[in-house]
Amino acid sequence: MTTGERKYPVGFIGIGKMGYPMASRIAAQGYPLHVYDISAAALAVICSQTDARAEKTPADIGRNCEAVILMLPDSAVVKKVLFGGSGALTAHLLPGSVVIDMSSSDPSVTREIGPRLKQAGADFIDAPVSGGVKRAIDGSLAIMAGGDGAVIARVKPLLSAMGKSIIETGMLGSGHAMKALNNYVSAAGLLAACEALKVGVDFGIAPDKIIAVLNASTGKNNSTENKLMQYIVSRLFNSGFSLGLMRKDINIATDLAKTTGSRTLLGEVLLKSWKDAEKKLGAAADHTAIFQMLDSE
Ligand code: NAD
Repeated sequence: MTTGERKYPVGFIGIGKMGYPMASRIAAQGYPLHVYDISAAALAVICSQTDARAEKTPADIGRNCEAVILMLPDSAVVKKVLFGGSGALTAHLLPGSVVIDMSSSDPSVTREIGPRLKQAGADFIDAPVSGGVKRAIDGSLAIMAGGDGAVIARVKPLLSAMGKSIIETGMLGSGHAMKALNNYVSAAGLLAACEALKVGVDFGIAPDKIIAVLNASTGKNNSTENKLMQYIVSRLFNSGFSLGLMRKDINIATDLAKTTGSRTLLGEVLLKSWKDAEKKLGAAADHTAIFQMLDSE
């Protein structure tokens, strides 16, 4: 692959809530786009809306593309797509191609994958995102990129089609570690905001007043600004990010703390709260529905 703005063929695997808008932006920038997903419906939608070509297997993506983006649920699925049998991606990658895992994956697994792809003649970086479906649609995601700086530089124009701030975090896996740590903070902030809303309402204060005070004061966070009124007070619970995926991210963060031997006071409490919510509401529920855990039994 050469550097610069050359529009080389790009593969995109995982055309879900995030993958669909991200891949659509790549197509809109003029990159020849090849897509794969286990959902035929997801492939049909993107192929009807863009010039993307649907492939039958990850291997077909590998044969055709100089860069391959993964936007999959978790590391187990990433490993399956990369190494799981005859239709898997790795054995069919073009020499010198780059695989970019933009899923919120487990950094320890990511660090194992790097050398295996190197052996197959390809480069591997992690570049997970933050900002949700809204910012995926307008191309303003935050992207945290881990791995070889020269490889990141090569694909920066491609990443710029999807994100506004691209922060290089260091070694392979550091992007995935930061993504989990970011969502740890985000999950704690959301739960605290939900609890403040619930207590305030039970005390007799109007929800819009509670949110106005939080947003004018030191309690302000992303959830008080962008979630409480929009998804929780409205009872829409449709932000586009599932509860199961948020629980996974908190799990990755607390596992990371165990691996590093770092002490956390909130970690286990937070993880248990989200696990209980996943059990009660289901993994597919929207993550903002955790508010319903505060309703009386
Ligand atoms: P999603 O469930 O909507 O999409 C995942 C897609 O992967 C689906 O289309 C599914 O069919 C596909 N898939 C599953 N197994 C596959 C396989 N073996 N081969 C090919 N395709 C397969 O999830 P999402 O919300 O788009 O999230 C994707 C990733 O992005 C996750 O790691 C998530 O944690 C992360 N993320 C999500 C958000 C958000 O707001 N939704 C924000 C930031 C990061």
